[in-house]
Amino acid sequence: MIVPSKLPDVGVTIFTVMSQLAAEHGAINLSQGFPDFDVNPTLIDRVVHYMRQGCNQYAPMAGVLALREAIAAKTADLYDAVYDPESEITVTSGATEALYAAIAAVVRPGDEVIIIEPSYDAYEPAVRLNGGQAVFVPMTFPDYGVDWERVRKAVSARTRLLVLNSPHNPTGSVLTAEDITALKAIAGQGDFLILSDEVYEHIVFDGRKHASMVCDPDLRRRSFVVSSFGKTYHATGWKIGYCLAPAALTTELRKIHQYLTFASNTPVQMALADHLRQSDDHLTLAAFYQRKRDHFRTLLAQTRFKPLACRGTYFQMADYRAINDEADTAFARRLTTEYGVAAIPPSVFYHDRRDDRVLRFCFAKHDQTLEEAVEKLCRI
Ligand code: PMP
Ligand code: GLN
Repeated sequence: MIVPSKLPDVGVTIFTVMSQLAAEHGAINLSQGFPDFDVNPTLIDRVVHYMRQGCNQYAPMAGVLALREAIAAKTADLYDAVYDPESEITVTSGATEALYAAIAAVVRPGDEVIIIEPSYDAYEPAVRLNGGQAVFVPMTFPDYGVDWERVRKAVSARTRLLVLNSPHNPTGSVLTAEDITALKAIAGQGDFLILSDEVYEHIVFDGRKHASMVCDPDLRRRSFVVSSFGKTYHATGWKIGYCLAPAALTTELRKIHQYLTFASNTPVQMALADHLRQSDDHLTLAAFYQRKRDHFRTLLAQTRFKPLACRGTYFQMADYRAINDEADTAFARRLTTEYGVAAIPPSVFYHDRRDDRVLRFCFAKHDQTLEEAVEKLCRI
């Protein structure tokens, strides 16, 4: 039977496409963003412990309370922001679910949602499925800053939501204090909400401070702030994320969450609650990845790729104009099949398939993997 597609222009995500291509050709996979490091054995032990203890049935719909309390404590410690675990914190099945639930909770037919491009691929389809319309604002190039004047012009009486992402995937840029000032000026002129994707909150480099929406009272009262344990604990396959939002927004978010998934994995939530309280893994992550970034950039200097600025995340954008003038999708494919290194072509993160001749490499890999990859890149 043929059904008319609700997303006719949408195919399989680039992450699946490139990872599959890498596997088929035995290429080193620096495309889809996931670490190849082991999860801390202490955390694994806690998961096993809770499974053996019989914590294997449904968690509370909003999330295991101990985990919500640990998230509240972390948010207070790091950002001096107090969220009530009962009414303002929801544990979700990855950040992906939180993003969808937030969008579905507030976007209605006819609403506009401002999305800064390049943008992570999960936002726009969710907007469209809920009857909204994305209004795209491009970042500046090559520094990938937000052009706030363009954002201001994009705001209309129909704007329901502004989607932000810092540290930013795929570009590795981060919002600064000046960005927050500019954002506040615009927010003061309208009553739109903010969906702030902060999954890389603990991966910010060179002594910068993560500019979270939770830090500013004017912004936090209108924000869904989304994060994920996948990035922080090298456990992207565990799919546990969360959303911080004022009680009224959380009530609406949970109405969607309870029917999307109801509750997320119980023993993993319980283990995360212990780990978040007892370890400082999230505090050492930035230094860990900064060293990786520096190593990868030093290696890239031997190639004809030109690394662009990388201020956060575990992604490195690299300009390849010195190599060729091929479209990024074609080049990414050829790099995988002919040279044995898979990367993401960022054009897929633009609605108009803009192409600035750059590729995104994930450096969340063992040094040896990065070294082997760059050895291959040197052949181009
Ligand atoms: N947002 C961004 C910007 C991401 O890079 C990712 C990555 N995986 C997600 C959301 C989804 O997070 P999760 O795996 O926890 O669903
Ligand atoms: N966030 C990861 C990336 O940007 C991948 C997420 C996914 O595979 N859906 O590469």
